[in-house]
Amino acid sequence: MATKSGKHYAAGKRVWQRPLLKKILKQVFGHTGFRPFQQEAVEAVMANRDLLMILPTGGGKSLCYQLPALMKEGVTVVVSPLLALMHDQVRALKLQGVEAEMIGSMQTPEEIGTVIAKLREGEVKLLYIAPERFFAPGFLKLLKSIQIAMFVIDEAHCVSEWGHEFREDYRRLGVLKEYFPNTPVAAFTATATPEVESDILLQLGLNEPVRLRGSVYRNNLLIRAEPRRGDGRGQLVDFLRRYRGESGIVYTFTRNAAEKLADYLNRQGFRAKAYHAGLTKRLRREAYHAFVHDEIDVVVATVAFGMGIDKSNIRYVVHTRMPKTLENYYQEIGRAGRDGLPAETLLLYSAADAAQRASLLEELPEGPYRQNAYNKLEKMIGFCRSESCRHGQIADYFAERMEACGERCDNCMGDAEHIDVTEDARKFLSALYRTRQRFGKSHLIDLLRGAENRKIMQFGHEKLSVYGIGKERSRGEWEAIVERLMELGALARGQHRSLLLTPVGAEILKGKGRVKIRSDRLRVKERKRKPPRSVPADIVYDKAIFDRLRALRKEIAAKEGVPAYIVFADRTLALMAALLPVTRNEMLGINGVGEVKFERYGEEFLTLLKELSNGEL
Ligand code: ADP
Ligand code: ZN
Repeated sequence: MATKSGKHYAAGKRVWQRPLLKKILKQVFGHTGFRPFQQEAVEAVMANRDLLMILPTGGGKSLCYQLPALMKEGVTVVVSPLLALMHDQVRALKLQGVEAEMIGSMQTPEEIGTVIAKLREGEVKLLYIAPERFFAPGFLKLLKSIQIAMFVIDEAHCVSEWGHEFREDYRRLGVLKEYFPNTPVAAFTATATPEVESDILLQLGLNEPVRLRGSVYRNNLLIRAEPRRGDGRGQLVDFLRRYRGESGIVYTFTRNAAEKLADYLNRQGFRAKAYHAGLTKRLRREAYHAFVHDEIDVVVATVAFGMGIDKSNIRYVVHTRMPKTLENYYQEIGRAGRDGLPAETLLLYSAADAAQRASLLEELPEGPYRQNAYNKLEKMIGFCRSESCRHGQIADYFAERMEACGERCDNCMGDAEHIDVTEDARKFLSALYRTRQRFGKSHLIDLLRGAENRKIMQFGHEKLSVYGIGKERSRGEWEAIVERLMELGALARGQHRSLLLTPVGAEILKGKGRVKIRSDRLRVKERKRKPPRSVPADIVYDKAIFDRLRALRKEIAAKEGVPAYIVFADRTLALMAALLPVTRNEMLGINGVGEVKFERYGEEFLTLLKELSNGEL
């Protein structure tokens, strides 16, 4: 069957060659080579095998099905959970000269009719749809009547109840293999524990699939986690100041918090907007649009934001509250630095977050699901407090072995100094013991600091030997020490906010074992941090030229009404600034410049680059 759509990329009758792959890789996508696992994935798909690929965000999963889609006969149907955000992806593909379409609830019946007509004519290579579309009347029948090259399941972890984003509609995708037993299915996700991985295989009914699993390590992400001081706004603003004019996401826990924080940031002079599920569709779209088009820098969002977001130059992700699970966390920070350039993540947590999360879990019905959720929460809390490599801990969670990163997380960089607070700990435990474990943190701190309030006098606590022995520490410092003792299991909670001494605490009181705490938790000796470079560390280029190229890109993007990174990625501009191409061929040699893009934007950039290399800055 000679399909019209085969006209540009006809692969011949199942005969395809590797040189052709490379050619299309360059021509359409502008890439000069494959990234790890991409070639294996493409070859599996070309051989009509089922596939499950687990590759971190930014690893380049889309290419693994988009490239084969161009070479195979028929249409590739891509299932993805968030249709609104798919829109940009389809547009980017069209700009690359690929016949991509989508069918979604946002379109009018006429628009959908047009897409269906094109499908029937064989004029669509990639069709993006939401999972529920399969169950719309007549849709499966339509698919049966046209040639399907393969099905692609994006964000495949949504299939699994053990994952962190389970969706009913995804679970039903198992029927695909029943209706289309001979059509290959390729599933992709960035996050799957081994448990979730086997669940995906089972639920989708994949048939002896090729399985590819990339390392979860994202070496361009710098990961930090620190205790939140107060409401954390001071820490957040300090952080954002280092990233003025660059894009990032700040996650909050509630809608209300998102709104308030966005207001606050605006008053502090940042260009921020809130994004959460409580906003009208229109407001959400506006915020999303403004962010993608660099009209604002910061989106303050609940976790409703970000899934499927196709913006590669997000430079930072901040969590102002502890995320639900490490999978959620990894997925959320994964939205930073998809262009491969350095990006930074900051997690602000407190013991109260942990308690709040735990109390939410109490409402779940008892059973293995709840137990599973508790285990995940434990791991999340452990991650926050841990003093070992952050990347290593994430790898460990996903059952992968990894050496400590050595330089891409706060713990490895030795950002945090430790202070021995054994003596202070013993003072506190002693005060607790002498007041017969009947008082809470606040009163015990008053006692140690020698406060002269009513409660102290009422109980005669000013007469105790421990009264006033902790004056040299501030209230905040004592709170941090108490929190540390909780973490170490030296204290337990009793009734009415009272604290109890545990066996571990008793040992410490007897002088066995030492208590250490990260100095930043005590807020002493805070060190100035070097701002991380927001330019590719591996490319040496002229910043002034880069800025001029960026300005031109911004102009073109505004004129065409597309996000800047769709014109060229930051990394591509950095390469231009480093290599200063002045001919068409030199330009095409740059990673990120394909022929289609060159036709559109190449000349304008060449003209500017010529001026710049003649020193006309
Ligand atoms: P994922 O879906 O795995 O998160 P994407 O498919 O969005 O990742 O790709 C992330 C970025 O990497 C995109 O900007 C894409 O253009 C780029 N990319 C993908 N494959 C390659 C490659 N072979 N060479 C260079 N850049 C690539
Ligand atoms: Zn590390």
